[in-house]
Amino acid sequence: MTQNSPPRGRFAPSPSGRMHLGNVFCALLAYLAARSRGGRVVLRIEDLDPARSRREYAHQIEEDLAWLGLDWDEGGAKGGPCPPYTQSRCTALYQAVLEKLQGQGLLYPCFCSRAQLHAARAPHAADGQSVYDGRCRQLSAQEIKSLSSRHAPALRLRVPDAQWGFTDGVCGPYRQNLRTECGDFLVRRSDGVFAYQLAVVVDDARMGITHVVRGQDLLSSTPRQLYLYHLLGREAPAFFHVPLLTAPDGRRFSKREHDLDMGVLRRHCRPDEIIGALAALAGLLDKPRPALPRELIAGFAWDKVPAHSIAVPPDFLRKLEG
Ligand code: GLU
Repeated sequence: MTQNSPPRGRFAPSPSGRMHLGNVFCALLAYLAARSRGGRVVLRIEDLDPARSRREYAHQIEEDLAWLGLDWDEGGAKGGPCPPYTQSRCTALYQAVLEKLQGQGLLYPCFCSRAQLHAARAPHAADGQSVYDGRCRQLSAQEIKSLSSRHAPALRLRVPDAQWGFTDGVCGPYRQNLRTECGDFLVRRSDGVFAYQLAVVVDDARMGITHVVRGQDLLSSTPRQLYLYHLLGREAPAFFHVPLLTAPDGRRFSKREHDLDMGVLRRHCRPDEIIGALAALAGLLDKPRPALPRELIAGFAWDKVPAHSIAVPPDFLRKLEG
């Protein structure tokens, strides 16, 4: 893309449950970031994991986004010029990229069980995720043959002992040593499911996404993804990792809790009340007042958005009771 072409942003929900207040917060900021610069918004359904994804949730996500006034230009029922917009239909694309990496000698099979991986967990891994100790990196061809006859392996990407960093549009400079803080990472699981890290890069690159807006829980994935962009010879987008929403006591909300999902929110609030409350939390309004997403476009600026987690005020939560 050229410097002046309008941005392409995206909503990339996983249909493993109903959308949650935190997902809506993220979608609102992704929408405003794109729309405030005349850009387009793509909806991509990230249903890679067949055990966790359900088509009904994907439909519900589209319906909830539309109800909230978070409109998009491509993907979902709208279609568009970069199909497929649903990851479960992209396996041939991921396979082609995987073969390219394999051809460069960058992948190796990993036979480690969950228990072995757990035991090998490094204590200081970034954000508590495990750093793989590389035990399958050195397997001989003979060992691979014999192990393969018993189990299907996962596939890992070898990473260099090098720093990989970037400047996040919300969090500022961030870097990691790929070897010591990330470790060789999975690109395909042993059950054949492609890993999020690979799929998200392939899709953002082929869809021409220029602005990735997502939760800070994914900040530490970004150096791995940048390394993949580098290997694939693709330009990386700009990243904006937005703060996570917490309960008033600082506890993190999760999708498993139904207390803040769209079902509950829709029973107690109008769309402009939800959006207005989130806009106030994002620093875009002085105080909560009803507002629709399109009414916030003109006043949007990243420098208003706080960099650290945000507690949802008790009065908003009280509104959802009863
Ligand atoms: N599908 C991921 C989620 O719902 C988001 C991935 C991304 O934005 O890169 O958490």
